[in-house]
Amino acid sequence: MMNEGTKPSTISPRDQDPLRLPIQFVKGVGPRRAEILAKLGIETVSDALFFFPRSYEDCSRVRPVNQLEEGTVQAVVGVVEDVESRVLRGGQTVVGVLIAGEGGYVRAVWFQQPYRRDYFREGQRVMAVGKPRRNGLIWEMVHPRVIVLGEEEQPKLAPLPVYALTEGIQQWEMRKMIGRVVAQYSGYLEEVLPEKILAQQRLLPIQEAVQQIHAPSDQQQIQAARRRFIYEELFILQVALALKRYQQITSKKSPILRLTPKIDERIRRLFPFRLTAAQDQAVAEIVRDMEQPIPMNRLLQGDVGSGKTVVAVYAMLLAVANQHQAAMMAPTEILARQHFQTINQLLEKSRVRRTLLVGGLPPQERSQILRQIAEGEIDLVVGTQAIIQEEVKFHRLGLVVIDEQHKFGVRQRAALKGAGEEPHYLVMTATPIPRTIAMTLFGDLDLSVLNESPPGRKPVRTYLATSDRRSQWWEFFRKKLREGRQGYVVVPLVEEGDEEVRSVVATYEELSRGELAGFRLGMIHGRMSGEEKDKVMADFREGRIDVLISTSVVEVGIDVPNATLMTIENAERFGLAQLHQLRGRVSRGKHPGFCCLFSDSTSPESRERLKAFCSTTNGFELAEIDFALRGPGELLGTRQHGLAPFRIADILRDSDLVLEARRNAWDLVREDPGLARPQHARLRQMVLRRYGKSLSLADVG
Ligand code: ADP
Ligand code: MG
Repeated sequence: MMNEGTKPSTISPRDQDPLRLPIQFVKGVGPRRAEILAKLGIETVSDALFFFPRSYEDCSRVRPVNQLEEGTVQAVVGVVEDVESRVLRGGQTVVGVLIAGEGGYVRAVWFQQPYRRDYFREGQRVMAVGKPRRNGLIWEMVHPRVIVLGEEEQPKLAPLPVYALTEGIQQWEMRKMIGRVVAQYSGYLEEVLPEKILAQQRLLPIQEAVQQIHAPSDQQQIQAARRRFIYEELFILQVALALKRYQQITSKKSPILRLTPKIDERIRRLFPFRLTAAQDQAVAEIVRDMEQPIPMNRLLQGDVGSGKTVVAVYAMLLAVANQHQAAMMAPTEILARQHFQTINQLLEKSRVRRTLLVGGLPPQERSQILRQIAEGEIDLVVGTQAIIQEEVKFHRLGLVVIDEQHKFGVRQRAALKGAGEEPHYLVMTATPIPRTIAMTLFGDLDLSVLNESPPGRKPVRTYLATSDRRSQWWEFFRKKLREGRQGYVVVPLVEEGDEEVRSVVATYEELSRGELAGFRLGMIHGRMSGEEKDKVMADFREGRIDVLISTSVVEVGIDVPNATLMTIENAERFGLAQLHQLRGRVSRGKHPGFCCLFSDSTSPESRERLKAFCSTTNGFELAEIDFALRGPGELLGTRQHGLAPFRIADILRDSDLVLEARRNAWDLVREDPGLARPQHARLRQMVLRRYGKSLSLADVG
């Protein structure tokens, strides 16, 4: 419906489907106007029908003249006292109608519309709707809507649609054009939603909804029409997601990876601590999935430091214990290296064969590793996403773990497929995602949440300071370093690579000669080779470096429990989610963490954001603040999620409908898994058109 598919290259005005008629053949449009409309995405009759108003002018606000305000649309009721028509010096005609209303006069004015004069007679009772403006002693309305009222008639005005415009077309022209299209063509629209659902959800049928959304009789009808289209949009997505999941469930082509008490015992014995109750619960959910021949699609969500890695390691070892391979993909090389190191430590005495796969390996070594993976001589592979996805062929891949996924892509999950078998997927994120959003963006994903942190964590104290407080912070910083702690200094990433390096390097030099003279400093930035980074991280982890100066590459995942000090320079340059991640670096052990944000920014928005950040360490609260400040799109990178954007629905605002749509979609798919019944043909067509490609649904039915 909303993104009509490809059009035939030659279309004649007599083409069968009137809804596909090119807009230029609609009466009163023509080729020139059609070009203008094309800029708004209106190329066919159908495009025009679904070009919904941006907003409505409320004409129900009838005011006494002496209470009018400039700038907003209002209505006045009065009696015509005078009608005049003049020709200005430039040749322009002006029609003026003087209306005596309650508390004063309003003059309605039209330029270049001499026929207006004939509409009015003295003594008529009228209502005028428009934006009033002061002209000397009198209020004026230019090109208002005027309705002639009977003697006793109560004025009642329907809301007026307001459309997005582009150069060359005016609001009234747009209204007229769309009004005509609706009158002439809305009768050809076919219903998409099953009748049962229309009735259950009390939704307007499509023809009525299109009519009401463009020419509503009142506010209530606008709401009813909008609700129908919001629901439809959400429902079509949920049906697509349900179909996808249904296909997976019924295809049963994933390996059954079974947990025995012995395997469980052997895995747990490797961990130097007991799992938290939340970790145990997540593990149980994951195991239940992996024991099924249906591919697991699970999102493991837990705030920074909640201990997601061990849960993932557990799952990977379960795969290996069942003679399958497991891959862990990290967003950065540093993080991949850290994960590999963690796994290495845990598996020190085990025979599990593992490898790290990152860029910059000597070609020979690399091709040998790839061969070993392909032949099943390696059990566990840790690497960056790009490399594993693009280059590696597995022998018997049983599980894929994707760590710290911020930009969620539906497609990404489909990328790795074994020969015949489909691996189980576990996606981990610290980004708290409201449930309805998770369901919308990944309706085919199950959710596990780590809602507690490991025991003994101390809260982080956060300070917001201006530059003049620096020496105090550094004094404190030195004191903590002398007590044996370690710290980070993060400078914002600057676009140009050279500057990025320089700012890290400059900060490093400044601190090593100044405030932190005598301490062991290290730096890390994008220009260093993998091995150099590796060495610095290892030195930091093992305490040979006291302070690590870096760009935000340490933002995600880095886990050095003894590091408790975080300095963030130019904090206004970081988003809330990023700041939260950075602060998460210093709350990982038994010592309390301290985080100091330096910012001299005076912009009210940055101040608000930074203050909000200091007020809570709860990731969910911060995410909510972030949603409120920036909208969910930013945070979730909706552009990246790979699905067509919504036209009218808003997953936060419409979360109730998301849930309803999801429930209805599942009921429908269970009843008619291929959408093969004739009454679902139209819906099926719609679902495939919108999501067939992005969700690889082409094989439905
Ligand atoms: P995140 O969820 O941010 O990825 P990590 O998995 O890196 O968190 O874990 C953070 C730290 O907590 C690590 O040092 C890890 O060893 C430790 N940890 C994880 N689980 C537990 C636990 N159950 N008890 C104690 N420490 C734990
Ligand atoms: Mg992590």
